[in-house]
Amino acid sequence: MSTTYQIINPANEQIVKSVDLADITATDKVIEKANKAFESWKKVAPGDRAKLLRTFAQVVADHRQELAKIEVENAGHTIGNALWEADNVANVLNYYSAAPERLFGKQIPVANGIDITFKEPLGVVGVIVPWNFPMPIAGWGFAPALAAGNTVVLKPAEYTPLTAVKLGQLALLAGIPEGVFNVIVGKGSVVGNRFVTHPLVRKIVFTGSTTVGKQIMAGCADQVKRVTLELGGKSANIIFADSDIERAAAAAPGAVFDNAGQDCCARSRILVEKSVFDKFMSSFEVAVKKFKVEDPALPTAEMGPLISKKQLETVQAYLTKDIAFTGSAPKGSGYWMAPTVLMPKSATEKVWQEEIFGPVVSVMAFDDEADAIAKANDSQFGLSGSIWSNNSSKALRVARGIESGNLSVNSNSSVRYWTPFGGYKQSGLGRELGPDALDAFTEVKNVFIATDN
Ligand code: NAD
Repeated sequence: MSTTYQIINPANEQIVKSVDLADITATDKVIEKANKAFESWKKVAPGDRAKLLRTFAQVVADHRQELAKIEVENAGHTIGNALWEADNVANVLNYYSAAPERLFGKQIPVANGIDITFKEPLGVVGVIVPWNFPMPIAGWGFAPALAAGNTVVLKPAEYTPLTAVKLGQLALLAGIPEGVFNVIVGKGSVVGNRFVTHPLVRKIVFTGSTTVGKQIMAGCADQVKRVTLELGGKSANIIFADSDIERAAAAAPGAVFDNAGQDCCARSRILVEKSVFDKFMSSFEVAVKKFKVEDPALPTAEMGPLISKKQLETVQAYLTKDIAFTGSAPKGSGYWMAPTVLMPKSATEKVWQEEIFGPVVSVMAFDDEADAIAKANDSQFGLSGSIWSNNSSKALRVARGIESGNLSVNSNSSVRYWTPFGGYKQSGLGRELGPDALDAFTEVKNVFIATDN
């Protein structure tokens, strides 16, 4: 028995659409279908699989405007971001379309024979996606999974299923065989959990909160199911006195308020060297006040609304004290909130330690290089971070000292599909993207052939 769910446009609170939510029986049927499709998909010749993925990429690129429009309405993403996100799916598919023909094993020197390894697909891969970046996060899971010869069951978040459903249709249009790439809309506790408990699902790729990630990891233990986790973050943006302060300050709002701060890589802790604290803050205030929060469909929008009323209330509950200044946001219907800058007094405060997942940033001063590293590492998370300095040796030293998976120097960029992405500590387990992503979607089989008989 399925129930329905109403999707709300977060910019104006209008109902966009009703979608059916799958139950366990429907989920099982799709998993079984994906398992059946695996038998033939894994045998598709590498060059043919590559061609199908390239066609899929092209079909996604051809529909970029349509996909982006859906995301603006469904998730309140700015049109600029949403177009980037649709393009990211096409780019990731293109990148991994080169993988089937390069899925090399090894020949290892051994005594009395020949030893070779094969990288073999796992079977059905379950991809569970959060609401904050519905398109890219789905693509980072399904593109390498399909390239390695697995079939996929994908569950989008309850709030944001529409682009995933469209991608499922585009896959068929591109000629990806029926049953190879399946999108199932439903609740995490029903469909997502069934991926974890169903023995035919051989791997889970989960992106979402650390709390749910821990439950999934525990659930996977029961079948020793493979799992990749991309979880929360509380990344530091470290500004040294010898950096281009104006540039760092001008870039800092985008580094945390992009996607209304609902970004696992958001630089939500800013650390500024004491001697330039005031200088940084005055430039930063100008930049925050200029940050354009408006109708996300406008090409000038830099930030739209938050995803839901619930998320807005959760974020606002953090704003009890220490507000230094805010930007502005539209009034009226929609889940709007002004970008907010806090100056907490202590590193033990909730706003400094917890992932707020909204347009809120906390700023604190540090004394020297060692203090900057210690303060940045004083977190249960370790996903991203930025280091601003014109001393490249120091910047590299600090990058090596920070317990985090993705760091950038004199830049706030975290994600490039050519490079590995993932977290230290409670920010996750395993890596996505980059040249080695298929390792997470394959088993290594070792075969020894005796030659001395
Ligand atoms: P969430 O954990 O509530 O949900 C994520 C997904 O898991 C959704 O599809 C949900 O339906 C599903 N789910 C929920 N309970 C489940 C269960 N018991 N079993 C299986 N599936 C279940 O997270 P969210 O609120 O959608 O997303 C926000 C979180 O995602 C933030 O913490 C953010 O940092 C994190 N995130 C991490 C990354 C990264 O790459 N590290 C990227 C984006 C978002």
